[in-house]
Amino acid sequence: MAGRSTEGSAAVLIIDLDAIVDNWRSLSRRAAPAGCAAVVKADAYGLGAAPVVRALLQAGCSEFFVALVDEGVRLRETLGDAWPRNARLHVLHGALPGEEADCLAHGLVPVLNSVDQLARWQALARQRDHVLPAALQVDTGMARLGMPPTVLGRLAGEAHGLAGIAPTLVMSHLVSAEDPDDPVSRLQLELFQPWRQRFPAALGCLANSSGIFLGPEFHFDLVRPGAALYGVKPVSGQANPMRPVVRVQARLIQWREIGAGEAVGYNHTWRANRPTRLATVSVGYADGYLRSASNRSQLRFNGVAVPLVGRVSMDTVTVDVTDIDASQLLPGALFDVVDEVQDVNALAAEVGTNAYEILTSLGTRFRRQYRGGAINA
Ligand SMILES: *Cc1c(COP(=O)(O)O)cnc(C)c1O
Repeated sequence: MAGRSTEGSAAVLIIDLDAIVDNWRSLSRRAAPAGCAAVVKADAYGLGAAPVVRALLQAGCSEFFVALVDEGVRLRETLGDAWPRNARLHVLHGALPGEEADCLAHGLVPVLNSVDQLARWQALARQRDHVLPAALQVDTGMARLGMPPTVLGRLAGEAHGLAGIAPTLVMSHLVSAEDPDDPVSRLQLELFQPWRQRFPAALGCLANSSGIFLGPEFHFDLVRPGAALYGVKPVSGQANPMRPVVRVQARLIQWREIGAGEAVGYNHTWRANRPTRLATVSVGYADGYLRSASNRSQLRFNGVAVPLVGRVSMDTVTVDVTDIDASQLLPGALFDVVDEVQDVNALAAEVGTNAYEILTSLGTRFRRQYRGGAINA
């Protein structure tokens, strides 16, 4: 198309793979001598599972987790021969009925969360006449996935309760790990400890990102961080030790001047009390920039904070750029939406959600650009 910028008008999501690798290394050091896995579910929290996994494999990570069989299948197909024989990919939800053969064919290891999942994996083991690897999840309080301790206890006590299964991990998931003062973490730790001893051939695996910071007792044999790899702050009320990973930039479409008393956007939720210069920027809730940021957050232009005024629209936001010289406001100029000043943690606090939701909302409409990661350039 004539006149179309080669850069495109879509907002840009810049992902720093070296920062992800650094974050993995620092979590590994903190967890040592336990191993450190990487959780790459939901397309690596929206950042692109394949490039993230390639970078982490290169750094020496060999244990990965996705949530769904489909996610695992796609990842293994994308990586092809680049997937090393010694690396393992666990599926946190386990296999739903009918997914077992696919799971096995792609070398995925299911987490067995229920008696039903266990029975179906055992049936496949019998059918193939093979002992099959699987992780065992015990529910220590999350009440979401996993077998109650009494149920797993009964199975482990029966001669053939776990026949056909070679347990890779025995795992559980913490409820409030980001809050070091919540006593539920210690209760879960005490409930989990006997299970680690019960399956000596399996790795004990309890801590998510925040769990790593609860101390060495929580590390067992393998920790499984997700969010902290991607720059999310692991401990509430403390400084963030993780490197920022994402930057989001969006382009100026046009600007205008309105008079005092004039209002902006859907439902006129903001009204100017002075003559105001307004810029319309090409990012909206369809890009994952949450509508709850309306009138609450800001973008930055050359380091200057410019507040959002009026509602976030599907494809645009409007910002007050009265303090920016009009000569700088060229169509296509870049505004920072997420950067080191206002990272995913700060944005989450402003709009009233957590940084996980900010990350995973950042949509497919962005142009993704990767930095670092050596072979991923
Ligand atoms: C998502 C998830 C993780 C990773 O948690 P983070 O808080 O992102 O580190 C670990 N374990 C389970 C079971 C999960 O669902």
